[in-house]
This record gives sequence, structure tokens and C-alpha cells, in this order.
Amino acid sequence: MTELTGKSVFEGVAVGKLKIIVHQKVEISDRTDCDPENEKRRFFEGREKTCEYLDSLYRRALAGKVGGAEAEIFSMHKMMAEDLDFEDGVMASIAEGHTAEYAVKKTGEELSAMFASMEDSYMKARAADVADVAGQINRNIMGLSSETVTVEEPCILFAEDFSPSEIVKIDSAKLLGFVTSGGSPNSHTAILARTLGIPAIVATQEGISFECDGHTAVIDCDGGKVFVDLPAAELKKYTDRAKALAAAKEARNALIGKPNETLDGKRIEVYCNIGNSSDADLAVKNDAGGIGLFRSEFLYLESDDYPTEEEQFEQYRSTVEKMNPKPVIIRTMDIGADKQADYFGLDKEDNPALGYRSLRICFDRPEIMETQLAALYRASAYGNLSVMIPMIISESELDWVLDVAAKVRKNLTERGVAFNEKMPIGIMIETPAAAIISDVLAKKAAFFSIGTNDLTQYTLAVDRQNAKLEKICDKHHPALLRLIETTVKNAHKEGKWVGICGELGRDLTLTEFFLRIGVDELSVSPAYVLPLREKIRSLDLSK
Ligand code: PEP
Ligand code: MG
Repeated sequence: MTELTGKSVFEGVAVGKLKIIVHQKVEISDRTDCDPENEKRRFFEGREKTCEYLDSLYRRALAGKVGGAEAEIFSMHKMMAEDLDFEDGVMASIAEGHTAEYAVKKTGEELSAMFASMEDSYMKARAADVADVAGQINRNIMGLSSETVTVEEPCILFAEDFSPSEIVKIDSAKLLGFVTSGGSPNSHTAILARTLGIPAIVATQEGISFECDGHTAVIDCDGGKVFVDLPAAELKKYTDRAKALAAAKEARNALIGKPNETLDGKRIEVYCNIGNSSDADLAVKNDAGGIGLFRSEFLYLESDDYPTEEEQFEQYRSTVEKMNPKPVIIRTMDIGADKQADYFGLDKEDNPALGYRSLRICFDRPEIMETQLAALYRASAYGNLSVMIPMIISESELDWVLDVAAKVRKNLTERGVAFNEKMPIGIMIETPAAAIISDVLAKKAAFFSIGTNDLTQYTLAVDRQNAKLEKICDKHHPALLRLIETTVKNAHKEGKWVGICGELGRDLTLTEFFLRIGVDELSVSPAYVLPLREKIRSLDLSK
């Protein structure tokens, strides 16, 4: 029997025939006596073919079952292929007399190493995307066919790593799950697995002997385990569990269109957390009641300069239109701490989570907030939009934001632009300070959304990024639950509603508590909407 341990990127169990994929290594030749003009032509032709291919994957993803979220990956890969820094690096290497394929490989490796050295785990994971794009350009330069994994029957795949393009091309009915010895839980391949709902384990470090090809494998995402050739009794347990999970998932689809209502008639809203406008497709697919948190900083993270009012407006408008008439709550950018964008030019800090982040940056650079609020107000004319402000610690901070909002409204009126004058401006309760003075804040904020990820980190003094602290990070700590309860009471006293948009919102062992204390809304990742609805509908608060 073989047993491997890795990092789960989704949940569930998969049992099936193992197929081991060995990617063909592409030999890159180099000479230093090439004709630079000819090599440039080879590069541009290879890149053009790659972009056409990425366009076709983009269209295929859009037409597919999860739509926009997958498609976004390929448009991002195309942007990388067309990136000017990348092109400059390739041109410089060709000018030194190298072959086009050598120049692409070298520049790709340099850019990839730059991403890999970044502290932020999201940016780190982009190293694999750059390597993937450079590899695709080189296959086209060298006239090799693009890498395709052919799967004839349902199976579990294993490889050193998979590119998102390989995964998206596999018929999902035949992909029971996949395992990679490399990769990371933040890679786009991992994100795809979550989006498609495929059990997957990455970074097992160890490989699987080729002798196991065709044998029966098990992926157990709960334990982050992969087994090959389990004894019959153990295997049966997993087969039974996989069947039960599949049946439960099927049954949950029957909940589409049903209210989030307990057996005794108490209702709560279930919304979705998203990172861009394409994710709204998933919110719709999973029957979310709205968007409870749009993390707008992803827009800033994906750009290499401050996104303009126009660029932001397009993203916000498209989200609001997709969801209309359902509500959309967009959070103003929360850059800083674990989400760094180079062009902000932020200094390195000893304690970034306690440092210069989100609103705190805007106090010094109000134009960032003004541009974003202008884009948001403009989008408010297209549907049901609210805005919320992260990291608030005091009443004066909220006053500052409300003043900026008034100035932005005045300016838009002068510009003759249509917008919703009354667009609600709420705040996140994610610092103990905000929770403690929530009675004061509730008088001015239109609503509260509790960010339990940061509220936990700041209440328990536990760095959310430090894996070593996971054991002491008690997500049910009474201090945290009391702060949540206080916040709800204070909001209700002022007639304001309260949601929870941190990860605690999908903790099914707390659903009953949240309902009992009167939380009005829970906002979770799209895949958790129906499991949460199922839980709510099973509860009877009268008992
Ligand atoms: C939170 O802190 O709970 C939250 C939702 O915001 P983020 O996870 O983006 O910091
Ligand atoms: Mg937060």
C-alpha cells in the first residue's frame, strides 16, 4: 500500500483508478550565433499562437459549467504572455544572440523566481502561472502540440503538477480527483479544483511509483491523504463515504430556490464572498441571495498600477448587473498586510497586520478612496449596491469616510453622472475596538458585516498567517463569540442589520448560535451556500 500526505485544496473523498501522467520534458536548444531578426519573428509568432489558444480556452471556459471564474485564469495568462516586461526580457536575450526558446525560458524563469520570492502567498503562487505561460509559448515556437491529458474513463490523476489549461480541457465527468507532488493550495490549478468542486491534494512532495498506474487510489481531503492499494475493508469504507457524499451533494441541488428558513420559520440571508465580477456567476449558480463581500483589493492586486475609476466602474457595474435585483456589497480596498501591491510602494513593516493597511493608507492618500468611491457610486446606478469599509477602529474614521463620500457625490453631480445618492455605506467589524464601540458606530453606519478572520486574529493576538498558531487559534473562543453577540445587539438597537463575512460564517457548528443571537446574514464562498442552507433548514429554534 502507498500512502502520501499533502495539502487538501477542496473537500470530499474520491475513489477510482489511478492514472499517472508524466509530462514530456521539452529540451531547449541554444546557440549564440542566431539571426536576431529571425528569432524575434519566431517569438512573436509563437506568442500569437499562444494567445489564440488562450482565447479559445477562455471561450471554452465561459461556455462551460462554471463559466467566468475559470475563464478569468486564461485571460490573466494572456496578459502575462503579452506583458511588456516579459517581452523586453525576451528581446534583450535575443539581442545577445540567443534562440527565441532560450530567451523565453530564461526570462520566464527570472519572472517566475521573482514571484516565488514574494512574501504574499497569493503572489508566490503566480510563479507557476508564469512558468506555464512561458512553457506554452515555447511549445508553439518549437512547433510542438500543446500538452493535453487524455482521459478515457473516470480516474484520479497524479502528476508532478498540472497547468490550469490541462485541467479545464478534461471532461469533468471523468476527473474524479487529482493529486500533485508539487504545486500549492493557492495555485490557479488548486483554485480551479475548488471552483469545479473536485477533491484534490497538492504538494505531497513524494511521487507515486509508476507501478501503481491503473491501481485503485483514494483521495481523502479531510486528512489530506492519498492511498493506493488500500486493503479491501478500508477501501469499502471510503467507497461508501464517497457514495454518501455524492448523494448528499445531489440532494443539496434540490435546495435551489428554497428559502434559508429554520423548521420554526426563522429566516436568515445567505450571500456569497467573491473576488471579482466573474465569481458572481458562481454566486448565481449556487443560488446565493446576494454578494455579502466583494474583496475589491483583488482588482488592485491583479493590476500593475492603480486601477482607474473607469476600470473599477466596469467591474463593479458588471457585478451589480449580474446580481440585480439582489444586493451586492463591495468592500473598499484592503491592501496591505498579507495583500501587497508593489506600486503602492509600502515600506516593509515588522508587524504588517497591525500596520499600514486599507483605510490607514487612504488617510494619507485620499485620492485612492475618492477614485474608488466615484467608481462605486457610478455603479450604484445599475442595481442594488452597498459599500463597506474595512478595518475601522473609531467613530472619527467613519466620519472621515462619510465626508469623502459626500465630496465624491458633489463631484459626480457636477459631472452630471447618474448615481444612487442613498447608496448605503456600512462598515466591517473586524477589530475588537469596533466591536466594543459598535453602539456608537451603529448610529452612523448603514449596516455591519463582521470580519471574523481579522476579528479572531486581533482578539486572540494570533497571527492568521502563522500555521504554527493554528492549534491555539480557538475560533469558538468565548471572547470572540461575546464580541459578535455585542455587535449584533448594538446594531439592532439602532435598527441596523448585521452579517458575518469571515470564514466563521460557514462553520455549521455555529449556525444555530448565529441564528439565536439574531445575525441577519451569513456570507460564504459559493460552494458553501447550499450546505449552509441545508443546515439552516434542519434547525428548530423553538426546541
Ligand atoms: C475578515 O477579516 O474576516 C474578512 C472577511 O476580511 P479578509 O479575510 O479579507 O481580511
Ligand atoms: Mg479582514
